[in-house]
Amino acid sequence: MIYKNYPMVSRIVFGRGSFNQLGDILEPKRKNDKAPFIFLVDDVFKGNSWLTARIPLAYKDEIRYVSAEEEPKTSQVDELVEDIILKHSERPSGIIGIGGGTLLDLAKAVSIMLTNRGSAVEYQGWDLVKNPAIYHVGVPTISGTGSEVSRTTVLTGPDKKLGINSDYTPFDQVLLDPELIKDVPKEQWFYTGMDCFIHCVESLDGTYLNEFSKTYGEKAFDLCKDIFLSDELTKEEAQDKLMMASWHGGMSIAYSQVGVAHALSYGLSYLLGVKHGVGNCVVFNQLKEFYPEGVALFHQMKEKHDIELPQNICAELDQNEFDIMIDVALSLEPLWENALGKKWKKKVTRQKLQELYQVM
Ligand code: NAD
Ligand code: ZN
Repeated sequence: MIYKNYPMVSRIVFGRGSFNQLGDILEPKRKNDKAPFIFLVDDVFKGNSWLTARIPLAYKDEIRYVSAEEEPKTSQVDELVEDIILKHSERPSGIIGIGGGTLLDLAKAVSIMLTNRGSAVEYQGWDLVKNPAIYHVGVPTISGTGSEVSRTTVLTGPDKKLGINSDYTPFDQVLLDPELIKDVPKEQWFYTGMDCFIHCVESLDGTYLNEFSKTYGEKAFDLCKDIFLSDELTKEEAQDKLMMASWHGGMSIAYSQVGVAHALSYGLSYLLGVKHGVGNCVVFNQLKEFYPEGVALFHQMKEKHDIELPQNICAELDQNEFDIMIDVALSLEPLWENALGKKWKKKVTRQKLQELYQVM
């Protein structure tokens, strides 16, 4: 048995208002006045001075607003990298992603591609990155994906949606300021929060589970139950807890894997562009035969928060389109092996997946 030797986020700040310290944190990392810090910021914050006025800019530093309307693409990463190289005479001192999973993943990918040749497409997969990334910092403004702790950055390329999984992917620094998630709209809060809940269910129910993953997964699972089902928490407590649930949920899948919901959700995302959080919810809603207890809790949470999931999103699809989604889902072998064991191919058929998609 070979045990994996995992890298982790090397530094972490947690606290309400800790965003004010970003300047002090970055300062020692500046290489010189020509090597800028590039802030990739979700464009939902454009014109929001409560946040943007606290982004510490000096010398040639710049803010680039990026839309999170669509999930990150390999072509988008390539363009950003080329643009940064053309604009600045020196390699940046660092890349800082401020936003949700979309912006965090973009920041990770850009920091990798600034030191590795070619296109991001060439690095989708496991351990293909050769050179260490430049210094990169993650500041989540919505919680649940676990991207802030993970060893991957999920990108959609011309022929697949797959992460750049590497030892150079995790952030060098993460800043968790629960105040930053205060204005997330309720639906999105639920969808991204459920990403965390589903990570826990898939990890805790999986065959890859060990005590490392279990410990993190159970903590995150309990936090999610508190956040989404209890009436006792103040808004601030719920924000603090969700940030930590996302962290623990992400840690839980480091040593294990996600499962059936993520496999099917990747299919929806690839063909229809359905975003990760909502896609996971649409799929998980139909998975009671795989995760009976988790799905029952999910239904309670959905009802409590009055969430209406999109319906009939596969109603108009033809056979070819179902086949594309099924191919994407089945190509994610580690997810199925985690969910159903080594003999997973005997337990899941194309027909079964199609039936599941048809009711979504
Ligand atoms: P997101 O980043 O796509 O953002 C969702 C929406 O919330 C956007 O409209 C965004 O503008 C808005 N938003 C973000 N912060 C806000 C705030 N403070 N106030 C108001 N609106 C705000 O959402 P997400 O669910 O965090 O991320 C999804 C992405 O994460 C997907 O691309 C997925 O592939 C990726 N992901 C990555 C990992 C990983 O380990 N790398 C794990 C899971 C998911
Ligand atoms: Zn996820």
